[in-house]
Amino acid sequence: MTRSITILGATGSVGASTLDLIRRSPADWKVEALTANTNAADLAKLAREFGAKLAVVGDEAKLPALRDALAGSGIECAGGTQALVEAAARPADITLAAIVGCAGLAPVMAAIQQGGAIALANKEALVSAGDVMTAAVAQYGATLLPVDSEHNAIFQCLAGNSLSDVARITLTASGGPFREWSADQLAAATPKQAVAHPNWDMGAKISVDSATMMNKGLEYIEAHHLFPVGLERLKIVVHPQSVIHSMVEYRDGSTLAQLGPSDMRVPIASCLAHPARMDTPMEPLDLPSIGELSFFAPDEVRFPATRLARDAIAAGGGAPATLNAANEVAVAAFLGGQIRFTDIAAVVEQALTRYSAPKPASLDDVLALDGEARAQAAAILETI
Ligand code: NDP
Repeated sequence: MTRSITILGATGSVGASTLDLIRRSPADWKVEALTANTNAADLAKLAREFGAKLAVVGDEAKLPALRDALAGSGIECAGGTQALVEAAARPADITLAAIVGCAGLAPVMAAIQQGGAIALANKEALVSAGDVMTAAVAQYGATLLPVDSEHNAIFQCLAGNSLSDVARITLTASGGPFREWSADQLAAATPKQAVAHPNWDMGAKISVDSATMMNKGLEYIEAHHLFPVGLERLKIVVHPQSVIHSMVEYRDGSTLAQLGPSDMRVPIASCLAHPARMDTPMEPLDLPSIGELSFFAPDEVRFPATRLARDAIAAGGGAPATLNAANEVAVAAFLGGQIRFTDIAAVVEQALTRYSAPKPASLDDVLALDGEARAQAAAILETI
């Protein structure tokens, strides 16, 4: 049966992995809309290749370039943040949400409101909006499927079980490229070194988040919303090989783990085919050649981000959205050469100390809080 799909963030790393799977079984898919931010040229190429009905750039200034590139194709074009929301609001059987950052929140909420399935990679949206998003999922009867490999693993390990039987959920973390670096080395780490992840090929922002361990902090908050077992039952363990993507331990002492290659096409395929399975081009997991799996407790002295995230979600209110906004600002400043690697967590910590806001009750509240927290973080950057 042919299904319709919209991909928000089609020109990114998750977007490319998704389109790679669709390319392998084109008869199964009808592409409704594809979006990007500034990359009109690649978006136009993808829209033509996949016969999308609509292509949207978030940056309105890139709309003329998109129109030129799609001239004569019959593909509808649009630009601007409202156009992203309208694209997400068009009916589709599944929406793959892979915009990076809180910029993806309003489109994700629009997709939720049309009540289909949302495969969520855009963790920042859930971290910022939290209960506002999960309440909308319930209100509109949408289905939220986790793309993040850890949450997808947990989702698979929970199948057929009850959350009330869960003793512990353990998120695994590769530890990133700087896992064994000293504090002095971390202070001198460059953007190029930070984006060179040992196991995963990802966009720049999430690669830096993996290096600081903020990615795991965001995932801890994401897991809290997706799998509400209580914060005391959520744990993080460093597992450098990234073979076990996460684990669920039950009250009878059984632990279920999901294993697989470090390739996002595996969790994306699990979402695209849900509740069935589909083929992927992955080689079977070769455990003898992997040899050993190792596990370590996180070092929150060198990598304070997981502590900041745990404290933010425990504090509640506007703290998770503030954490996310300050992190986005700090990561952009690090990638732009303005601050040191170790300043990222420092900016986030200062923002959480300086700025406190009540729990957002609506999308508008979340966006206002996000904007205010970004302004606070920008002011902190000035002091560094
Ligand atoms: P990329 O940076 O590779 O791609 C981001 C995509 O979002 C691009 O299509 C980009 O368009 C678009 N985009 C960026 N900013 C905006 C904006 N302001 N408005 C609208 N569109 C925008 O990111 P990834 O694919 O790595 O990550 C996407 C999301 O998935 C993130 O939330 C990340 O945390 C999550 N994720 C990623 C994984 C991975 O393996 N990469 C794994 C698990 C989760 P353009 O190309 O024009 O800039």
